[in-house]
Order: sequence, then C-alpha cells, then structure tokens
Amino acid sequence: LIRLRARLSKSANPLGKALFTILSKNHLTNSDWEDVEDTLLLADVGADASSRLVDQLKSDVRIQGETEPNTVREMLKTRLLAIVDAGMDRRLCAELSETQVPNDQKPSVIIMVGVNGTGKTTTAGKLARFFVAEGRTVMMAAADTFRAAAADQLETWGNRVGVRVVRSDKDGADPASVAFEAAHTAKEQGSDVLIVDTAGRLQNKANLMQELGKIRRVIEKTAKVDEVLLVLDATTGQNGMAQAKVFADAIGITGIVLTKLDGSARGGIVISVQQELGVPVKLVGLGEGPDDLTVFDPATFVDGILA
Ligand code: GDP
Repeated sequence: LIRLRARLSKSANPLGKALFTILSKNHLTNSDWEDVEDTLLLADVGADASSRLVDQLKSDVRIQGETEPNTVREMLKTRLLAIVDAGMDRRLCAELSETQVPNDQKPSVIIMVGVNGTGKTTTAGKLARFFVAEGRTVMMAAADTFRAAAADQLETWGNRVGVRVVRSDKDGADPASVAFEAAHTAKEQGSDVLIVDTAGRLQNKANLMQELGKIRRVIEKTAKVDEVLLVLDATTGQNGMAQAKVFADAIGITGIVLTKLDGSARGGIVISVQQELGVPVKLVGLGEGPDDLTVFDPATFVDGILA
C-alpha cells in the first residue's frame, strides 16, 4: 500500500497538481468550481460523480464558511474517499481470506475476463504468485484457446511463479472443455485456488458471451466460482466503462482489477465502474513484474490521486 502511494505520487500527478492550484485561491468563484469539475472529468471520475462531488464540496464550503485552501482540500478528500470507498467488500475469495476452506469445497475458482491487451494474463500470473506467497496451492487454466500464444504466455507465467497450467495441445479447442478439465484436476489434487484465463475478443460479442457463460457453467459442475474478475486498463479511460458493461452482462462480475495504474493519473474510472456496476475495485496493477499487484485501498488511492 505504501508502494501504491509512492508510485501514484511519483507520476507527477496532474490531477493533484491542478486541484491544488485551483483550491489554493482564497475566494472560489463559479468558474473555479467549473475548473474543479473539469479536472475531475479529465481524470475519468465520470460526469455524474464529478458534478455530485463539486455540489457537495460547494455546500461544505458554504455551510462551514471556510475557504482556507488546506481545509477545502481536506473536505474534498473526505468527500472523494466516501465515493471511492462506498462501503464495498473488497475481500478476494471472501472465505479463502478468512478461513481454511474444507477440502470438499476446494478449489476457490477465479475467472479472469477482459479485453485482449488489458493485462489479463499478466494479472493471472501475478495473482497466482500472490496466493503462492500466502502458502496456497494454485493451478491455472488457459481457457483462451483461440490464440496459442495466449496459452504459451500463461505457461511462461506458470513456470515463473511455480504453478501448474492446464492447457489444450491443439489450437481452437473448446475453451469450456479446458476449464472443465482444469476444475476437475484442481479438485482432484486439492488445490486451494484455480485461476482461469479467458479470451477477450470483443469483436464478436455474442460468441464471447456464449463462451464465457459456458465456461462458468462447466466449472460449476465441479467447483464454486468465487470470483469473476474483470481486468480493465486504467489508461483507456471511459472506454473501459463500455467494456465493463459487456462483460457484466455476459458473465456477471464480482470485482475489478485496474491495471497499468503506474504512470497514469486517470484512475478516476474506479469511481465510474463502482457506481455504475455496483462492483468494487479489488486489485491494482502497477507494472509488468510478478510483484506489481496490490490490493486496492480507498484511502491510499485517494491520497495518491490528490498528492
Ligand atoms: P491480455 O491480452 O489481457 O492477457 O494482456 P497481457 O497480460 O498480455 O498484457 C498486455 C501488456 O500489458 C503486456 O505487455 C503486459 O506486460 C502489460 N501489463 C499488464 N499489466 C500491467 C500493469 O499493471 N502495468 C504495466 N505498465 N503494464 C502492464
């Protein structure tokens, strides 16, 4: 978490800087408030949330009769934190994080979904590493059978973090059959966690929905799907919202992983996604390496974007 703050602040944060400048004035005019709203929009906070935030802040300032810059910034921080936090449960595989799951309820299954290039496979690898570090036994499944390179990439991650990868030998195999076999093998071997990497070809939405739905159904013959994590690239901004809706419709999602937040101050998408889909951001990707994944903490995040 300290790392998250350090990385977010290091990237000469334009949002923090711009807000700092505007809110440093002793008297805030309507045009200043518009600038605050524009700045929030530029950081992908989303139209509704930005305008609500500015309304709340204006009323805070009016009620407290306070325009001292530091106080106003604190008010903004409090309001922003309330929106980002939204009282959401961010635990990953809730049961797994609290207790030793009984053998007959293993494995906890995590399905990774998202558009190609967002960082799905990389995040699957990092997540495997995360659970291994916690002393869990992990297996991964390459259910993107469309591109052989995708399975190879997941296998490379498997070797890197010491986790077995179930894959098909032939191109174009049925992704659901790979998922089914993986769930079966993971159960047989008593693995704690099974992470399933899927394809993300949005060009053919109907097929993709069918495929994801089928993957989920076949896994549920053997095991419980604990999480469906949608991987979103923070640098794609509001485009990510449209993607999120497609996946939410196709398979239902339980959490978001926001990748590539290193070097981007556009993490405001966190707010739009949570508000519009009612799904919490659970993890954040901060680089390409195996340890560049961290749990999402609202307070650290808000400190980071206002730094
Ligand atoms: P997929 O097609 O969704 O499986 O995406 P990949 O896992 O292949 O990732 C696409 C590219 O994004 C790769 O070059 C990754 O190394 C890179 N990547 C993934 N996550 C992050 C991240 O958090 N930060 C940065 N800077 N790059 C990332």
